[in-house]
Amino acid sequence: VGAPAVDGGSEALAALHRVFGYDAFRGEQEAVIEHVVAGGDAVVLMPTGGGKSLCYQIPALVRPGTGVVVSPLIALMQDQVDALRALGVRAGFVNSTQDFDERRVMEAQFLAGELDLLYLAPERLRLESTLDLLSRGKISVFAIDEAHCVSQWGHDFRPDYLALSLLGERWPDVPRIALTATATRATHQEITQRLNMPRARHFVASFDRPNIQYRIVPKADPKKQLLAFLREEHAGDAGIVYCLSRNSVEKTAEFLTRNGIEAVPYHAGLDAATRAAHQSRFLREEGLVVVATIAFGMGIDKPDVRFVAHLDLPKSVEGYYQETGRAGRDGLPSTAWMAYGLNDVIQQRKLIQSGEGDEAFRRRAQAHLDAMLALCETAQCRRGQLLAYFGQDPRPGGCGNCDTCLEPPDTWDGTIAAQKVLSTVWRLHRERRQKFGAVQIVDILLGRRTAKVIQFDHDQLSVFGIGEELTEGEWRGVIRQLLAQGLLAVEGEYGTLVLTEASGAVLRREREVPLRKEPKKPAAAPRSSSP
Ligand code: ADP
Ligand code: ZN
Repeated sequence: VGAPAVDGGSEALAALHRVFGYDAFRGEQEAVIEHVVAGGDAVVLMPTGGGKSLCYQIPALVRPGTGVVVSPLIALMQDQVDALRALGVRAGFVNSTQDFDERRVMEAQFLAGELDLLYLAPERLRLESTLDLLSRGKISVFAIDEAHCVSQWGHDFRPDYLALSLLGERWPDVPRIALTATATRATHQEITQRLNMPRARHFVASFDRPNIQYRIVPKADPKKQLLAFLREEHAGDAGIVYCLSRNSVEKTAEFLTRNGIEAVPYHAGLDAATRAAHQSRFLREEGLVVVATIAFGMGIDKPDVRFVAHLDLPKSVEGYYQETGRAGRDGLPSTAWMAYGLNDVIQQRKLIQSGEGDEAFRRRAQAHLDAMLALCETAQCRRGQLLAYFGQDPRPGGCGNCDTCLEPPDTWDGTIAAQKVLSTVWRLHRERRQKFGAVQIVDILLGRRTAKVIQFDHDQLSVFGIGEELTEGEWRGVIRQLLAQGLLAVEGEYGTLVLTEASGAVLRREREVPLRKEPKKPAAAPRSSSP
């Protein structure tokens, strides 16, 4: 196959072939690159793996001068620069991990016009010395990566990003391109406004990842459920298992290894050498499982990750989408699997309440969690709900490749059950000035004379034993869904349950409470189907 003739418009294409060795642009890449090469500003929303990097790397190569890339991912800069250098691109970075001399060398190269790309951490651009350096060289394009970090309402706010609005003022003739993989409509607007890019063209790729099958199962015995899932559907496949704590990362990795699945742990508590070794094994070997905290995965480019499993609830839909998005970059069928239960809800709510941050911060965290819970509890298409969250139109009639589409959940009228739970919480508070957690509430409903029930005389309450029609697991499911629907709330470090403003309408029989039925066998996986 001969190289295509290079005419005026195909300098970009020539760079794509020559430098990166790819045949053709993907999706919106070509339109974005053409616009930026011509000197226009661009705001680019593309899912993880969509190919954002080329959108600024190629303009940087084609336009005269150095492309300045602002990225918060300091830990990845060295890797990114190494990868570019291996392709023959003259790339460098300036950040706090360098010593004075290394920095001086980079700066000299930039000033001499010997760099195609220069990566900078956002905090650098707050320094007058950096701005001064930049104005003494020639800049081809400013790329602002992870642009959602400018959003104060987002899940990843970095104050240093706010200062980036001055780039347009100081360098009005240099095109700017802002890129992100996570943007709701509100964040999208905030990026445009706060980075001061009113004339930017907007490129919004579809956030749908049709080859990823989304599944969320009720948590019973999570490690065993995970093992069954891996054995039945992903034997010998590479994948990532996310856990919240370092401790559960370690335990889960051990458990899988003991059960014949090769797995290594990854979290910030491991020393750098171990982390690097585990990461490079994951990239190199086929079929290795990494059990990790969310510290793992940013910037990891492995196309054949066949599954991403969550044993704990992510804090936001953005986080969930980003983490699950690491599966199936090669376009082949992959699974996003999560086990989720009542304790996840209570734990996350407690974390928000007892965590640092002001009231506004807490409210925001709460709103993010609520959206995540709504995704977990929905009886509708999960993909549709995800896309709607990102402001995109879902496919009418469902996607056919998520658990709720494959096996639509039954719903039932949970009004009476909800009233029973809420009136138990109400009575404890009203008659005894007491607050308790979910375990005690369920014991009271089931009429169990446990030591703690006896100790507090809870068998004397009129609600004692009024809930024998449901099992313990079903009651926990009811409480979980009431929490997710905002009809109950969690308080304090013990996770005690309290009523909300919305609870009153249920207690007064003014509203109904539709609930999802808990599957009888929680571990059961839907029959696999290929998309
Ligand atoms: P993002 O930053 O959007 O997550 P990347 O820029 O890291 O995505 O690209 C994801 C992967 O896709 C990388 O391996 C990249 O080399 C590859 N890629 C990007 N554009 C193309 C293309 N036009 N043709 C082939 N592969 C591409
Ligand atoms: Zn669906």
